[in-house]
Amino acid sequence: MRLSQYFLPILKETPKEAEIVSHRLMLRAGMIRQQAAGIYSWLPLGKRVLDKVCRIVREEQDRSGALEIMMPTIQSADLWRESGRYDDYGKEMLRIEDRHERELLYGPTNEEMVTDIFRSYVRSYKDLPLNLYHIQWKFRDEVRPRFGVMRSREFLMKDAYSFDLDQEAARNAYNRMFVAYLRTFTRCGLQAIPMRADTGPIGGDLSHEFIILASTGESAVFCHRDYLDLKVPSEDVDFRDPQKLAEIVTTWTTPYAATEEMHDEAAWGTVPEGEKLAARGIEVGHIFYFGTKYSAPMGAVVTGPDGKDVPVHMGSYGIGPSRLIAAIIEASHDEAGIIWPKSVAPFDVGIVNMKPGDAECDAACDQLYRELGAAGLDVLLDDEDSRAGAKFATMDLIGLPVQVIIGPRGAKAGEAEVKIRATGERETVPLSGLVGRLT
Ligand code: ATP
Ligand code: MG
Ligand code: MG
Ligand code: MG
Repeated sequence: MRLSQYFLPILKETPKEAEIVSHRLMLRAGMIRQQAAGIYSWLPLGKRVLDKVCRIVREEQDRSGALEIMMPTIQSADLWRESGRYDDYGKEMLRIEDRHERELLYGPTNEEMVTDIFRSYVRSYKDLPLNLYHIQWKFRDEVRPRFGVMRSREFLMKDAYSFDLDQEAARNAYNRMFVAYLRTFTRCGLQAIPMRADTGPIGGDLSHEFIILASTGESAVFCHRDYLDLKVPSEDVDFRDPQKLAEIVTTWTTPYAATEEMHDEAAWGTVPEGEKLAARGIEVGHIFYFGTKYSAPMGAVVTGPDGKDVPVHMGSYGIGPSRLIAAIIEASHDEAGIIWPKSVAPFDVGIVNMKPGDAECDAACDQLYRELGAAGLDVLLDDEDSRAGAKFATMDLIGLPVQVIIGPRGAKAGEAEVKIRATGERETVPLSGLVGRLT
C-alpha cells in the first residue's frame, strides 16, 4: 500500500474525550471513528488489525474442532421468551419493533439462537460433540460506554457454543476452548491469565475469565506470580486427547487467580507475600459451562445410548476481538505511539521514502516495496512529500514492527536504515540483502 493512495487520517491533537492510552492512540492513528456514543467505524488501518486478530481467533477455534457459522445480529423476542431471558436481560438489550409490530432485538449474545439451530437438526448423541461459533457484531446498551472500543455498545464478539451428552463430555469441550484461548491470546502477543469467575446472568457452575493485567483495567484481580512463567501449549497440542487437555487446564488453574467477585481472602492468605500479584485487569475472554440451562427450557434434547432423551449439556465461550485490540495497545505502546506485536500489525514493514521525486530514491523504494510484497509481507510505503519529522512521527504512531528509511544518499550508496519499532534500534544495512533479512 502506498501512503499517497491510502486513507490514514492521523490526528495531530490528542483527543480530549479519550481517557486511556489505547483510546487516544486508536483515534490519533486513524484506526476508528466514533459515530454515536459507544458506536464506532473501523477505518482502513483499524480494519486491518481487526482482520488479523479475527484470523488468529478463527485459526485457533478451527484447530480445536469448532465449526464456523454466521448467525444474524437481529433476533426475535419470542426466542428469548422461551429461555425466560427476554424479561431478565434488562436495559442492556436493545429492543426493536418492525413495521408489523413484531418484537425484535439486536443480539447481545446468541445462546438462544444457537440452541434453536441445534434442536432443529440434532437428534442423537452420535452427532455429538458439536461446537458452533461465529464472529459477529453484538449490541449491549452499556450504562457507561467508555474507553473507545474497550467498552463500546456495538462490539465484535467471537462466541462459540458447545453441545455434549453429559457433564464429563462438556468438561472436555470446556477444556478444548480453554486451551484454544491460551493459544489465541499468546499469538496476539498478550499474556492472559485465566481467573475463576462469577457466572453472572448466564448462570452455571464452571467459568473462567481471561484477564490481561493493565493499570487501566476495570476490575481488581488477584493472582499468583507463577502465571507469568507458565508455558502456553504449542500448536501441535492434540485436541483429541482429553487427558492431555485436562492436564494443561489443571496446570493453568492450580495457582491462585480470581477476579474481585470471586476473591477468597482465606485462600489468598496462603499465597506467600512475595508471590502475590494484586493488580487491575481487562477481561478479554470468558468461558462458561452452564449445563442444561437453555437446552432444558428450549427442548434441545438428544437420544442417548440407552434410548432415553436427555437435554444437552452446553457451554459458551466469548472473545471480544475489538476490545482485544485496545488491550494489546494498553500492553504495548510508548510515548511515540503503538508498538504492534508482529502477528497483528496492520503492515509488517513501513518504507519511508525521504525524498519522493528523487529518481534513485524512488527506484530503490519501489523495488524494495515490490520485493517485500512478493515475499508475502504487508508493506506500507510512505511516498508522500512531507517533512522528515512528520514522516517519522507517523511511522512511530502507527507502530509497524520494522521501518526501512531510504534517502537519496542511501539510495546512491545502496543502503537503507532499518529501525526496529519495539527497541528503537537502528542499523544501516545494504539494500541488497534486505529482503532476505526481513522475511
Ligand atoms: P464486562 O464484564 O467487561 O462487561 P461481560 O462479562 O459482560 O464483559 P461477556 O458476556 O463475558 O462480557 O462477553 C464475552 C467477551 O465479549 C468479553 O470477555 C469481552 O472481551 C467482550 N465484551 C463484552 N462486553 C463488551 C463491550 N461492551 N465492549 C467490547 N467488548 C466487550
Ligand atoms: Mg458486561
Ligand atoms: Mg465480565
Ligand atoms: Mg464475562
